[in-house]
Amino acid sequence: MTPIDLRSDTVTKPSVDMRRAMMEAEVGDDVYGEDPTVNQLESLAAGMLGTEAALFCTSGTQSNLLALMAHCGRGDEYIVGQYAHTFRYEGGGAAVLGSIQPQPLDFEEDGTLDLERVSRFIKPDDPHYARTKLLCLENTHMGKVLPLSYLKEAKKFADSNGLSMHLDGARVFNAAVKQGVDVQDITRYFDTISCCLSKGLGAPVGSVLCGSAARINKARRWRKLLGGGMRQAGILAAAGIYALTHNIQRLQEDHENALALAKGLEQIDGIEINPKTVQTNILFADIRADMDRLCGFLKEKEIIIGTANHLRLVTHLDISAKDIEETIEAFREFFG
Ligand SMILES: *Cc1c(COP(=O)(O)O)cnc(C)c1O
Repeated sequence: MTPIDLRSDTVTKPSVDMRRAMMEAEVGDDVYGEDPTVNQLESLAAGMLGTEAALFCTSGTQSNLLALMAHCGRGDEYIVGQYAHTFRYEGGGAAVLGSIQPQPLDFEEDGTLDLERVSRFIKPDDPHYARTKLLCLENTHMGKVLPLSYLKEAKKFADSNGLSMHLDGARVFNAAVKQGVDVQDITRYFDTISCCLSKGLGAPVGSVLCGSAARINKARRWRKLLGGGMRQAGILAAAGIYALTHNIQRLQEDHENALALAKGLEQIDGIEINPKTVQTNILFADIRADMDRLCGFLKEKEIIIGTANHLRLVTHLDISAKDIEETIEAFREFFG
């Protein structure tokens, strides 16, 4: 029996068909630009996201870092949300490796950055200050989808302030599926977009960074420097191609499962959750119980959850509707 692992959508394992695609992939040395499968993935991703070029990266962390380094140099600054992945959960890579100063700001409730506030943090051209170069947004952010009208406004704002825009679109396809739009209706506002293949899309490894040919060339140079030049990476890229061609529309199921889970948990005394806040595949809840005891209880039933103080559950392609029922039942038993 495989456990019901709700910690993250990174835990998905490649399916039999995905593994077959990996096994059959044609490969070459990608540092020489000779891996046909990597090249195919990069042109597929660029075509889908509507950019000139794309780069296959080892992880979302690497892809975001390469983007920041392709936009900003030593002494430059990027504006970013306080709880954004690039700022908070990537080891401070932009500062450590890019000599880039982050300017974190609080997110609004809906995952946007208030543009009026952003404007107050853009530094004047004065040697006292770092040079503000880039606005970085995240979509989805904690499962929340940014409104298209906001993206349009942000783009106008960035243009009039001479800033570039980067999207940490680790789950940008979740956003597109939720909004029922083509992903390009989201990505068109950004100079660069990073998208994870290894989350809800189900590939074992990798992200793609998309942008103009010039920007991607710069990123490719940094990727080599950072040790991300992989050789016969087509084996991994094949999984990415499979993910992009088979696993996007089905994200809808993950969203439905997350909502069903929220609705089930809402009925339980001891769990605080508003299903209206659950937009995609991630749900948060407050719990009146000892988390360690809860985790231990669920583990006995082969249900795995994260051990943070609040409850964060993530649905993905290895979680079925039946798993959701079993999970609700287990929570009910614990609190009952
Ligand atoms: C997971 C994630 C990343 C980075 O992904 P890794 O592949 O784990 O490095 C970046 N941004 C967001 C919002 C993420 O959720």
